[in-house]
Amino acid sequence: MKSLSIFCGSSSGTNGLYKHAAEQSGKLLADNNITLIYGGGSFGLMGIAANAAMQNGGKVVGIIPTILVEKEAAKRDITELIVVDSMQERKQKLMELSDGFLILPGGFGTMDELFEMMAFVNLGVHKKPCGILNTNGFYDHLIAFIDHATEQGFVRRRVRDFIVHDNEPESLLRTMISFQA
Ligand code: AMP
Repeated sequence: MKSLSIFCGSSSGTNGLYKHAAEQSGKLLADNNITLIYGGGSFGLMGIAANAAMQNGGKVVGIIPTILVEKEAAKRDITELIVVDSMQERKQKLMELSDGFLILPGGFGTMDELFEMMAFVNLGVHKKPCGILNTNGFYDHLIAFIDHATEQGFVRRRVRDFIVHDNEPESLLRTMISFQA
């Protein structure tokens, strides 16, 4: 695994555990020589993870659409900042450049990215794992809902299995590295 996209909140959340998880994740990628690819903004967990990777000698690539360069304070102190024309182009590039997707706590932007990557698994566009970091049980209800949708016959089991989850970044990364489509 050479590169991972991190999808996470442009906010930091109300519990310090989320910031800690973002720091741990950025450092973990740096320590494992895995390039962190993300949305290129400075705010919230996104900025925290990017800073942690940079401070620990890692590589960080940000991909940001022109319309968000100011709004999300495009981060210039990273290895590479790629400015693209649209949100769709950003997602396309995130998907192409990454060997997997690491999902930290976040809001609709984060969930949109997770679901888009899973919808692409469903369509056979890629075969890369989505690893949910379930810090503080943040994603318990979402994981339960996805399992419910699988049991009720709306999500195919072999597609569902592209989602792995764990409470700890290290063990989640190990599961993602050993993931076989
Ligand atoms: P959030 O999880 O809502 O804080 O959003 C995290 C990031 O997801 C935002 O900073 C956006 O750049 C990005 N994002 C990706 N897709 C979308 C979308 N469809 N709408 C809004 N934000 C999005």
